[in-house]
Amino acid sequence: MSRVESTSGIDFPDRVGIVIVGAGACGLTAALAAHDAGGDVLVLERDESPSGSTSMSSGFIPAAATRWQTAKGVEDSPELFLADIQKKSHDRSDRVVAERAAETAGAALEWLADKHGLVFELLDGFLYPGHSKHRMHAVPERTGEALEARLLAAVEAAEIPVMTGARVTTLYADADGRIAGVEIARPDSGTERIGCSALILACNGYGGNTSMVAEHIPSMAEAEYHGHVGNQGDAVLWGEALGAATRDLTACQGHGSLAMPHRILITWALMMEGGIQVNRNGARFANEHQGYSEQAVDVLKQPDAVAFDIYDAGLHKLGLEFPDYRDAVEAGAVKQGDSVEALATAIGVPAANLAAAIAETAGEGIDRFGRDLSKTRALEAPFYAVRVTGALFHTQGGLAVDGEARVLRPDGSAFPNLFAAGGAAVGVSGPEISGYLSGNGLLTAVSFGRIAGMAAASGG
Ligand SMILES: Cc1cc2nc3c(=O)[nH]c(=O)nc-3n(C[C@H](O)[C@H](O)[C@H](O)COP(=O)(O)OP(=O)(O)OC[C@H]3O[C@@H](n4cnc5c(N)ncnc54)[C@H](O)[C@@H]3O)c2cc1C
Repeated sequence: MSRVESTSGIDFPDRVGIVIVGAGACGLTAALAAHDAGGDVLVLERDESPSGSTSMSSGFIPAAATRWQTAKGVEDSPELFLADIQKKSHDRSDRVVAERAAETAGAALEWLADKHGLVFELLDGFLYPGHSKHRMHAVPERTGEALEARLLAAVEAAEIPVMTGARVTTLYADADGRIAGVEIARPDSGTERIGCSALILACNGYGGNTSMVAEHIPSMAEAEYHGHVGNQGDAVLWGEALGAATRDLTACQGHGSLAMPHRILITWALMMEGGIQVNRNGARFANEHQGYSEQAVDVLKQPDAVAFDIYDAGLHKLGLEFPDYRDAVEAGAVKQGDSVEALATAIGVPAANLAAAIAETAGEGIDRFGRDLSKTRALEAPFYAVRVTGALFHTQGGLAVDGEARVLRPDGSAFPNLFAAGGAAVGVSGPEISGYLSGNGLLTAVSFGRIAGMAAASGG
């Protein structure tokens, strides 16, 4: 399906300057950047209506030293942001990618606002795990769907063509790895060839490809995949066929709080501000403050891979600030009990164990899992609960790239006209699931999307 073939004897009836594969946040940002730099751009998207994982996301983009931070008196710097990224990954992030992302994310958001009319706000109501400053930015609707819609509107306003229902199947490359064009499969089973002078892979990772997940991230092989199904690992498969280097294929963004069976993300703010997770026996099992990504693995180890988020009325009110949480309430995923016994009955766990778990929140200092209980208050009745599981949101490994998003060979040399960014390229989480710092996904989609677009338009 994802093939690389020789250019010999192949002709391309249609030609454009820069072909971009994928119309998520990365591909659309790359398209705008390449267009601004004078490039002749075509975006190819397999779906009839572009959405990607971007539309499923919360749409929160971390960036440092932005004017939105300055306006709210938040003092931040790319250096501090980089330090937070490296701390979460235990200093194992791809250094070049992490440095460039931390350094350029702010400029990318300001350019999207100034040149392309996107509107951003700083989220300063809650400090996301692992960030030492308030640096999450979102469009006013605070959803990934709205972010995608606003990017699509900007691309349309710039009159950049987006061909939908166009699944790229084949790359045509000459002997030195120069890409001459691609072949696309159309929904009516037809195929077309399009020639290009540069190719940007913005088709995310391999979260939707079960055999690649089982091979590279076995701890998440049984996890619910809650990302875009179209992300089948094409970038990595093409890269491997071309002889490109890959990095950190074991990395991903997990999430320990996906409401089931509703499949709605329950904000981790509930845990960071005082909530706990218990299993079917009503017992806590991990430090809920370690990070939502690695918590997915702990949830998956519980009986039936089920956990319950337990919190109280104050945290329920905080949850209602998030669109996903409001959807969960409407869907009936959120249970309430005026007492521990009532909640235990509502969710079917032993009341005595649940009472003991809730009583732990009144503790002081570091608990048996390593959580600092003095940072949050004790939970108090009435209590709330949501049944959740551990999910795989997206993969963080991918093609090795340099600071200009050029795809690299194992010897460190760059392919002449092949670029990769966002989920298609290596991220900044290092090789472990615990290395994912909130926002690492859209961070590289937007910052490296822009870098790839500019570099491709300038001839690499
Ligand atoms: C529930 C959830 C919540 C999240 N919340 C956040 C958050 O708040 N902040 C954050 O930073 N990250 C978040 N993420 C991660 C974030 O969504 C991704 O990292 C980001 O959207 C990646 O952008 P992208 O453009 O690389 O990929 P995508 O948005 O997935 O776009 C890739 C596109 O490529 C297309 N495509 C794939 N293969 C082909 C092909 N062969 N031919 C043509 N088209 C192809 C796909 O159809 C898709 O439209 C979240 C993810 C999920 C699932």
